[in-house]
Amino acid sequence: RAKETASNAVCFYDPSMDRAVRERNVLAMDMRAGLRRGEFQLHYQRQNDTFTGAVVGFEALLRWNHPDRGSVRPAEFIPIAERSGFIVELGEWVLREACREAASWRNPLSIAVNIATQQLADPRFPGLVQEILQESGLDPARLELEITETGIIADHQRALQTIRHLKSLGVRIAMDDYGTGYSSLSMLLAFPFDKIKIDRQFVDGVATSAQSAAIVRSTLILASSLEIPVLAEGVETDAHVNFLREEGCVQLQGFFFGQPVPRAEIETIVNSIPDHPPGRKKVA
Ligand code: C2E
Ligand code: MG
Ligand code: MG
Ligand code: MG
Repeated sequence: RAKETASNAVCFYDPSMDRAVRERNVLAMDMRAGLRRGEFQLHYQRQNDTFTGAVVGFEALLRWNHPDRGSVRPAEFIPIAERSGFIVELGEWVLREACREAASWRNPLSIAVNIATQQLADPRFPGLVQEILQESGLDPARLELEITETGIIADHQRALQTIRHLKSLGVRIAMDDYGTGYSSLSMLLAFPFDKIKIDRQFVDGVATSAQSAAIVRSTLILASSLEIPVLAEGVETDAHVNFLREEGCVQLQGFFFGQPVPRAEIETIVNSIPDHPPGRKKVA
């Protein structure tokens, strides 16, 4: 409340701030209407096994096709949705949509969904995940929830409880944007992650920056001693692939393999994978 008053007060003195605040409020309102009007859409980006090259899963990435503004990037609207609290509702839509989509695939590939801090902090979240798994019929083992350091730093104990609850449902938890926070390393030791996603800013530098290469290398060593698989995001070049392969990073995701694409385009990829891995339940 105090914060709100403060930012309103600023409006009277700073017209540019006023514009920014108004702009944000307009977008926040547009977003609610946009969700009802079906303007949001998920795109999917493939994740590949480093050594076999096989597609192992997809990450769902949110897109907003605004009637006037065209395609609005998540970097522009996710922070606004977080500030207004609308992210909880929007995130629920994302989870439902992604699970329904993955459940329709011929092949039991995994589906990774980004979870915002406020979703994770919502006490109803594990129950919601369970409900969505049931209604979609998705095998929980195929669902991977991507959380970031900010999602767990505020209340360690509670986050740990939530993560344990989620894992008891059979879903996997990935730490996203690894290396960008202040205490990524201690997070790794304190929380039972099933996967680490190295942020693309470090991947980008592996061939050119000794510092990035050192961060990626040491992350891979630590993760391997903890027996946590690592995925590198933002893989764009041969040099990236070669470095990551030599250092033993098991999964790769990035423009080198494919851009995030709409659902219609991944269907071909999913259906072109010939066999179901042995011992896995066939998904209708
Ligand atoms: P993220 O979860 O780290 O997702 C990876 C981002 O990197 C995506 O950006 C993806 O398009 C981009 N990317 C993938 N490969 C490459 C590459 O080779 N090079 C470069 N330069 N970029 C690459 P996008 O889709 O714009 O999403 C940005 C961020 O917005 C995501 O980062 C995530 O934090 C957030 N976001 C996206 N969808 C959702 C969602 O449904 N819920 C929530 N809470 N956040 C989301
Ligand atoms: Mg992610
Ligand atoms: Mg990421
Ligand atoms: Mg990232």
